[in-house]
Amino acid sequence: MIEDLKEKAKELLTSKKVDVVIGYEAGTYKDYASPSFAKTAKDVDRFVWNKNCVNNLAIYITKAKGKVGIIAKGCDVKSIIGIIQENQINREDVVIIGIACDGVEIDGEKADKCNFCDVHTPKIYDILIGDKIESKESSQDKYKEVAEIENKSPEERWKYWKDTLSKCIRCYACRQVCPLCYCDKCFVDTTVPQWIPMSVNEDNNMMFHMIRAYHMASRCIGCGECQRACPMNIPLNILSKKMTKEVEEMFGYTPGVDIEAKPAIQDFNKKEDPDKEFIM
Ligand code: SF4
Ligand code: SF4
Ligand code: SF4
Repeated sequence: MIEDLKEKAKELLTSKKVDVVIGYEAGTYKDYASPSFAKTAKDVDRFVWNKNCVNNLAIYITKAKGKVGIIAKGCDVKSIIGIIQENQINREDVVIIGIACDGVEIDGEKADKCNFCDVHTPKIYDILIGDKIESKESSQDKYKEVAEIENKSPEERWKYWKDTLSKCIRCYACRQVCPLCYCDKCFVDTTVPQWIPMSVNEDNNMMFHMIRAYHMASRCIGCGECQRACPMNIPLNILSKKMTKEVEEMFGYTPGVDIEAKPAIQDFNKKEDPDKEFIM
């Protein structure tokens, strides 16, 4: 697979179809692969593909200049779909080198998201590396952790989140690593008006996480990178999965599936609440 991948990446660069190809190279931390940016065919020789290629490289496409080639697993392609739907890049400016992927590992164990994977073969791609892999419905409940919290009383839930989020040090690694958090200026960094005070305490932390969860509603594709990046082991996946579940139930919309679909948050359907007047 890696030789095919390198050959296709080199072709894209030498034919000048793209200015850069974003892929993986051997990292320096444990066995994890690191992002790699190839601007010449020689740079491509650094590329690797293995179970340690966990990073969602889509984070870089909204920052790259010119035409971009990107190595993307099925889950990463979901975020590229979201970025294109939100008009942050044009489909014709990105060449997706999709990977047929049967799973990645975090600290030697299969990543949780891989247990529920419905995109072993990416939804969209320009070039596919590897043979197509069929996705089967998982026998596990992807919303199990969400249900555990939902089953608590409101008081227990409040305590759970207050205690859990009080550990947050507001380093914003979760934001930095998220491919859908691409705003030039995040609400947490705005000082006029100042939506949230900078100081780290229970109330401010709660506010940050609530606003972020709403900003990610109908947009988070569940790559799990925010939780993986968190130095305080905060289970951010539960919050984002809860929002995804609510949006699926209320609007029948799942992010990262259909590039032609209108994201739930950008759509207003009068049938959803016929009594409500809207600005249009
Ligand atoms: S979720 Fe699917 S595409 Fe993503 S790493 Fe796991 S198996 Fe691969
Ligand atoms: S990465 Fe973790 S500690 Fe840092 S801001 Fe996000 S939730 Fe808080
Ligand atoms: S799982 Fe986290 S990093 Fe991935 S899209 Fe959702 S909020 Fe962003």
